[in-house]
Amino acid sequence: MIARVTLEIALRKEFDYLIPSELASQVDVGSRVQVPFGARKVLGCVTAMAEESAHANLRPILKVIGAQTLVTPKILKLARWIGEYYCCPPEIALKSVLPDAVRKEQAGWRERLFVRALPQTEPLPKLPKRQQEVYRILEERKELPLQELIDLAETTAATVRSLEDKGLVTITTEISERDPYAHEHILPSQPLPLNPQQARALERIIAAMDGQQAKPSTASAGDMTPVSSSNNFRLQSDDVPQTEPKNASSVFLLHGVTGSGKTEVYLQALAHALEQGKGAIVLVPEISLTPQTVERFKARFSSGPLQTLVAVLHSHLSAGERHDEWHKIRQGRARIVIGARSAIFAPVDPLGLIIVDEEHEHTYKQEESPRYHARDVAIVRGRMEGATVVLGSATPSMESFYNCSRGKYILLEMLERVDAKKMPLVRVVDMRQAMRKGKSIPIYSPQLKEAIQQRLERKEQTILFLNRRGYSTSLQCPLCGFVAQCPNCSVSLTYHRRAQILCCHVCGHTEPVPSFCPGPKCGNPDIRYAGLGTEKVEDTLLKLFPHARIKRMDSDTLKKKDDYRRILGDFRLGKIDILVGTQMIAKGLHFPNVTLVGIVYADMALHLADFRAGERTFQLLTQVAGRAGRGDIEGEVFVQSFTPFHPAIQYARRHDFAGFYEQELEFREQLKYPPVSRVAMLTLKGRNEEKVKLSADHLRRELEKALAGIKELIIAGPAPAPLARAESLYRYQIMLRARQMSEVSKRLAVMNQSLSLPEDVSLSIDIDPVNL
Ligand code: ADP
Ligand code: ZN
Repeated sequence: MIARVTLEIALRKEFDYLIPSELASQVDVGSRVQVPFGARKVLGCVTAMAEESAHANLRPILKVIGAQTLVTPKILKLARWIGEYYCCPPEIALKSVLPDAVRKEQAGWRERLFVRALPQTEPLPKLPKRQQEVYRILEERKELPLQELIDLAETTAATVRSLEDKGLVTITTEISERDPYAHEHILPSQPLPLNPQQARALERIIAAMDGQQAKPSTASAGDMTPVSSSNNFRLQSDDVPQTEPKNASSVFLLHGVTGSGKTEVYLQALAHALEQGKGAIVLVPEISLTPQTVERFKARFSSGPLQTLVAVLHSHLSAGERHDEWHKIRQGRARIVIGARSAIFAPVDPLGLIIVDEEHEHTYKQEESPRYHARDVAIVRGRMEGATVVLGSATPSMESFYNCSRGKYILLEMLERVDAKKMPLVRVVDMRQAMRKGKSIPIYSPQLKEAIQQRLERKEQTILFLNRRGYSTSLQCPLCGFVAQCPNCSVSLTYHRRAQILCCHVCGHTEPVPSFCPGPKCGNPDIRYAGLGTEKVEDTLLKLFPHARIKRMDSDTLKKKDDYRRILGDFRLGKIDILVGTQMIAKGLHFPNVTLVGIVYADMALHLADFRAGERTFQLLTQVAGRAGRGDIEGEVFVQSFTPFHPAIQYARRHDFAGFYEQELEFREQLKYPPVSRVAMLTLKGRNEEKVKLSADHLRRELEKALAGIKELIIAGPAPAPLARAESLYRYQIMLRARQMSEVSKRLAVMNQSLSLPEDVSLSIDIDPVNL
């Protein structure tokens, strides 16, 4: 037999290998193998089997990795789709479907020595005291890992060995599974009785899972999803390219405000999947994969008739833990998987349900090749495997809401908080007024200061949010205007006061803080700091409220693996009065005693050169505001802004998603941006700006040829990227907008094969980009 193998090295081609007879029983489609390639040994994946090959002198496969085939045929098919749709070589797509720990066999099962007591028919012989103690423990605990037993009995291995010699215990080598959550004490939880809005949502989802073809009824989407009237650019956004064969699969968008009880709906839908004998995948953004979240899922399925292992996949696990979690899924013992982006490739089979929580989150998009969007992959996988897909969010993406209005997804709404708790009161503070009074740009308006003071007096907690770490954004000389720039990127350096450095947030370059202005012929010793970061917010706060217990949480303060948990734990226990942080604290956290949320500058995201800037600001404000008033006391939110009348801010203030959606859609329609079209972003990078620019012009001409005949196609650019230089590379972009992306992808891949670019200029293709 012959195996066709996709090698991991970038060759865009498959190679045939002989299957040696001793490996015959182990090699199948989806096996991971090591093969000779030239003088090297490389890893690859078997993608097909054949009786014969067109090539002579085939070399044999050297080794098979894993006891089971690692890439199941279904996942292989999904990887093929990724390669085609996202325009990336098959080996790159294949690489992404397995965790490194499994793919490269970075880790294996951990073996440990276990000790068991052997039942005795005769009375125990007289034993030395220590041995007696060990035996007593074992009788009680039945079996223990050797090391644990030694620790428990405060003895040595020799004591246990002598019991073994006497035939009283056995010591065996066994696999000991790693459990990253072994130290959590998880109390089983029971399903809650649902309120009517939850019950309605669950009923629709379950009906779809039971195969009653759920049709997007106009009743559910019609009244609340305004379809804009300006239809002069009639685009049918192909949310996902068609995949054959079309299984019955429904996609739901669960639009539920923060605190509406979405998670309980997920849990009961998961239970239904288990009842059907199927498994499920729950995707959450990496950042909200807190022990708190994981616990809620584990707790529900830790006992009872639906008991199953809940596997967890995310980047903070060790290679060994990831290996074990993944194989528990592959062996079918863990039927529910909760994880970040790449968990969408978990080999759950049969798959009944996929849940994508916080579906609007941009972290679902992978920013390196393959540049896939896990939410969109979820929909494609759901369709391929006939699984129901539930997208959940308090602030759905424009794309998903649009798909509801076009009848592609089914909209389920839960617009009230559980127990009819009120949405927090949001006050927008016009910072231009505060600025007129003082000389410098203020950080805290009098209103916010007073509100914080009140909370301190009432022993309630406050969260302050700013979307930028560091002390100040830039270092600017008031005399000559000099601004400290990164030597590698077209951004200014951020001042970090504690560390006394200037740091580039794009490439990580650092340099010491100058004591004199380094500007030409200047030398001014009075260098000012403009802008604002979390560090300065914290410092100013310490001065304003010297007796308050204040903690800052951003990637600068989180140094150790456990810091995140520790700080949140302290906050929950009431050991912190005010928590200052970046988006790290914006999501998913549930602290009943937080009654005040302050958004220091709401405008930051609005100035991005991205058509999604307004959408992002709306989402961020809504999410952050959702942290307030989750307990019994009503919450209050202060949004400080220099553009207080911006629609994104005003709609967020009124918790009016539908209103925001409607006006935003109008803007997108005018400019033919998603969701009414799809975008592909082509970026050229190189050290020599002139070469990059010329290559971009050349690329534009090639694109015009390659994409000729595609309807309603817009080619914009080339133009310098908003971040015109990063890591010493100049960047030029061409943006494509089209009605259908799959045809564009196909032709781009073909064009890319024959495109000739200078050696030091590279092209990257990003289909459906989320960051421009
Ligand atoms: P969301 O995910 O929509 O933000 P959660 O699922 O976190 O909301 O629910 C908010 C709180 O309400 C949680 O503490 C949850 O346990 C509780 N909750 C959810 N559903 C119910 C219910 N039907 N009855 C009582 N409490 C509920
Ligand atoms: Zn830089």
